[in-house]
Amino acid sequence: TDQPMIELNDGRTMPQLGFGTYKIDNREAANAVRTAIEVGYRLVDTASIYRNEQGVGEGMTEGVWLTTKVWNDDQGRREAPRALEASLERLGRSHVDLLLIHWPCPDKRRYLETWQALIALRDEGLARSIGVSNFMPEQIEELVRETGVVPAVNQVECHPRFQQRELRALHERYCIVTQSWSPLGQGGGLEEETVQAIAREADQSPAAVLLRWHVQKGLAPIPKASSQAHMEENFSCLSFTLDAGQMARLDALDSEDGRVGPHPANFC
Ligand code: NAD
Repeated sequence: TDQPMIELNDGRTMPQLGFGTYKIDNREAANAVRTAIEVGYRLVDTASIYRNEQGVGEGMTEGVWLTTKVWNDDQGRREAPRALEASLERLGRSHVDLLLIHWPCPDKRRYLETWQALIALRDEGLARSIGVSNFMPEQIEELVRETGVVPAVNQVECHPRFQQRELRALHERYCIVTQSWSPLGQGGGLEEETVQAIAREADQSPAAVLLRWHVQKGLAPIPKASSQAHMEENFSCLSFTLDAGQMARLDALDSEDGRVGPHPANFC
């Protein structure tokens, strides 16, 4: 399927839209991933902590982008390579397209050596691209200052109610792609009156409207869905456009307390 690709700062290109697999049980993951690929998704997001890598790997097709993540307990110079090795074993693969540090865990003080380990894993070809998740500005600055290697991606909570404007400005300076987790606000964003009104105007579903906002912002959303109907509805964000006025109304939903997930300063 022809679909928008996003350029990474390491010279590779990544599908802009992805399929998230958090809370998809290992026994259902193979079928869910197969269905998502049939629907048209060309990027699948998992993590060792999702405990579904084996099922995800089973459902994968060659040529579809696969992302996994190093869990908090596996941070460290010696631990991270072992964790990737175990992930690859479960996934049944020789490499992943993208490997992320799942959370910074600042109190552990291990994200810098973990990043150095990821650089080595990339050089060995075990992860084609490397990045981070839930990193805050000062932590990104530190990685760059200490290693000279800029993460290709920072996967963070992002949706119209929580837009991460400050962080995204830093990403822009470093050409880091913002990959949006909980792009639908874990489903909560669908209830928003503005979203519903725009959905009626555009003759689209609220989910497609929310995801279209990400696409037009140059963000890389990874919505999760269990049913094929939802997967299709979400995928349809690639086939219409919102006008500038509609985008502005969604931009206006940004809020200080719009976060639905944990705060990365104290989650580990
Ligand atoms: P989401 O915003 O994708 O929302 C998912 C929820 O919305 C589910 O309950 C689903 O049933 C519902 N939904 C999906 N499509 C719908 C539709 N068309 N209509 C109505 N309801 C619909 O939230 P999420 O699952 O938290 O995030 C997506 C993905 O992001 C995860 O699966 C995971 O891969 C990733 N993620 C990463 C982190 C991280 O720390 N890096 C954290 C959370 C999630």
